[in-house]
Amino acid sequence: MYTQPIHLDGAEFLTEKTKGLAEPAAPGSLGVNAERSSKSNRAVTDSVPYFQDWREAAHQVKRYAIANLDKLLVEFERNISARGAVVLWAKDAAEANEHVLRIAREHNVKSVVKAKSMVTEEMELNRVLETAGIRAVETDLGEYIVQLAGQRPVHIVTPAIHMSAADVGRLFAEKLGEPMTEEHTKLADIARRHLREEYLQADMGVSGCNFAVARTGTAVVIENEGNAGLSTATPPVHVAVVGIEKMLPRLEDLPLFLNLLPRSGTGQKLTSYTHLIHGPAPGRKLYVIIIDNGRSNVLCDPAARAALYCIRCGACINNCPVYRHVGGWAYGWVYPGPIGSILTPHLLGMKQAGELPFASSLCGACSEVCPVKIDIPHQLVHLRHRAVNEPSPMRSWTERLTWSVWAWMMAGPMRYRLTMTGLRIGVRLSRFLPWHPGKLGAWTRGRELPEVPGPDFRHWWKRNKNKYEP
Ligand code: SF4
Repeated sequence: MYTQPIHLDGAEFLTEKTKGLAEPAAPGSLGVNAERSSKSNRAVTDSVPYFQDWREAAHQVKRYAIANLDKLLVEFERNISARGAVVLWAKDAAEANEHVLRIAREHNVKSVVKAKSMVTEEMELNRVLETAGIRAVETDLGEYIVQLAGQRPVHIVTPAIHMSAADVGRLFAEKLGEPMTEEHTKLADIARRHLREEYLQADMGVSGCNFAVARTGTAVVIENEGNAGLSTATPPVHVAVVGIEKMLPRLEDLPLFLNLLPRSGTGQKLTSYTHLIHGPAPGRKLYVIIIDNGRSNVLCDPAARAALYCIRCGACINNCPVYRHVGGWAYGWVYPGPIGSILTPHLLGMKQAGELPFASSLCGACSEVCPVKIDIPHQLVHLRHRAVNEPSPMRSWTERLTWSVWAWMMAGPMRYRLTMTGLRIGVRLSRFLPWHPGKLGAWTRGRELPEVPGPDFRHWWKRNKNKYEP
């Protein structure tokens, strides 16, 4: 089990700090779990004959919504405010955290229950609340487990996908003083028993929002465990944090997404619970914080705008061969996998996360399963182009030197031949070395250095050109 706390300050791919799951055993369980999720997802989506039509329709709805965000956001604010919600705007995580802390002070909040929300992970809200002396408890089972373990989620839908039942049993025994068990139902019972107390004591509930319907002013939260319902309805104050990209124009658009998201995310036809929040319940308070936190950067880049269509289903992550090997922490921030590679550089900035678009084989498995048809490989190539053309600390002198040597090598046939011969000999010899330096060493620690296959094309062509030339 991996109990090291992960406090990340950037999104450099796979560093010592972020490697996390590049440790024994975890890649195995992570890969198996991710593959199982993607298989059940495929089985369910393949069983719907018009699934591709749904995807296209969802793409068009999100395209319209993102193109008209200015109007839809104002419409949503007007409609949900009319029923008593207090709407606040936040340009970034710091401003959103200030809003939450001010609300907590106003209502004398001592403890908070949280439903799973990736945007509050962006804000590092738990840490902010704890620093202010407010106890914050995650209530989604996976989030609860990783919070107890002092970790970050490794996946946006299944945060503890890297842990086995035995890992969780040991964790509950250590942190909650419960008898050791590996039985899933018993583990769920333990979590339920402890969390019930938290709901009853909490002064405030915090949630994200899966969709925000502009015309009716509705915040939609979907979930399977009932924890989001209890977190939003039990405490006297509910704070919903809504990313600006969550807008849908009309309530009639919602069923399409309620069909797509669970099928793509967990292989379910529908989630167990769908909460439509139109305003505060009598005697209670509802605050809606609409947050940008870098999303406008995506809007400003027409080639990247489609990244805002994402409905956070996690299908691209489950299907990504890179993610299955390195896990979520390697991506250095909140969003792992392909969606992380296209979103994080915008939200954190190219300087901090410009390396992520290179964490992909461009195999295209991600876009094949994306329920809103985001062309992720195209976005990755676009970001790679930006990464090498914008000033970035990732462009170290070693990288610049490498490219200069490569450019020199490619500038003439004799240089090319010489370099390739040297390379072939070098690779052959280095296979016999007990260790390799730097990044090559990091790569060969778990893999064989491959033979350079031969003969190369030039030699092959010399021998065979008579067959092809007239
Ligand atoms: S990019 Fe597509 S597949 Fe990936 S999480 Fe977002 S909606 Fe799901």
